[in-house]
Amino acid sequence: MRNLTPLANLETGAMFWAGRDPDDTFAELAALGLRCGQLGFPGDLDLDAAVEPWREAIRRSGFVLYTAIASFHGEDYADIPTVKDTVGFIPPRFRAERVARMLAVSDVAAKLAIPGIGMHVGMVPADTTDPDYIAVREITRQIADHAATHGQTVSLETGQETAEHLLEFLIDVNRSNVGINFDPANMILYGTGDPIEALGILGSRVLSVHAKDGDWPPADQPDALGTERTLGKGSVGIERFLRKLLQVGYKGPLAIEREAPNHAERMQDIATAVRVLDEVKRVILN
Ligand code: MG
Repeated sequence: MRNLTPLANLETGAMFWAGRDPDDTFAELAALGLRCGQLGFPGDLDLDAAVEPWREAIRRSGFVLYTAIASFHGEDYADIPTVKDTVGFIPPRFRAERVARMLAVSDVAAKLAIPGIGMHVGMVPADTTDPDYIAVREITRQIADHAATHGQTVSLETGQETAEHLLEFLIDVNRSNVGINFDPANMILYGTGDPIEALGILGSRVLSVHAKDGDWPPADQPDALGTERTLGKGSVGIERFLRKLLQVGYKGPLAIEREAPNHAERMQDIATAVRVLDEVKRVILN
């Protein structure tokens, strides 16, 4: 990825959302010792109004932003059937507005000099002749080609497909600027496979990484999602995850992601995650 030369190997950063005051957001993260991350644009945020305040705050803070992540109006992560019905480009009723939104996020990212964009594309059907599969593949190509005009990469969030299927999809999309934002917790939350094995399969396609933790869904509830946990408290195994990242040659940053119920709890959990990552890195980077 571009613009990452000033960062250390596996430098800790955060995934955070636009919507709060940009200067306050950077100040809170800087207080935890962070200076890089991914900026998320919620589906309802006014993108045009966000550009200037964020551009100025980025300049003042010196923060390195490497991905603009989009979520979409109408998405709901309540359980697996709801995710299938509402997330990404799978539900046909949302496709046109979400493609337009994604291209707009790409344009905003360009104005903020952010070198990559990312999103959940939704639950890609396993059957490659399924009309929804074909639609999502074509949309991913369209977004990739638009992003390429800005020199941007496009990261697909992991978790909703098995690693094998996601790799097949990437090969089928066939765009050199498309890769993975690897989220080890999502693989567990969606029950799609062991994240460490998945990283072995997807390793060369990983553009960025979420440091997130979680526990598997209950075995007797096939529609349920697992439960997100504070980093170090779930089933990922942060040390083996970081060791595997090194093994597959990943040198980029680690964006702590935490969707806690409120902001204070979220910041507290991010602070804990910073300490967990520092500890593990002290062991494995020496
Ligand atoms: Mg994630």
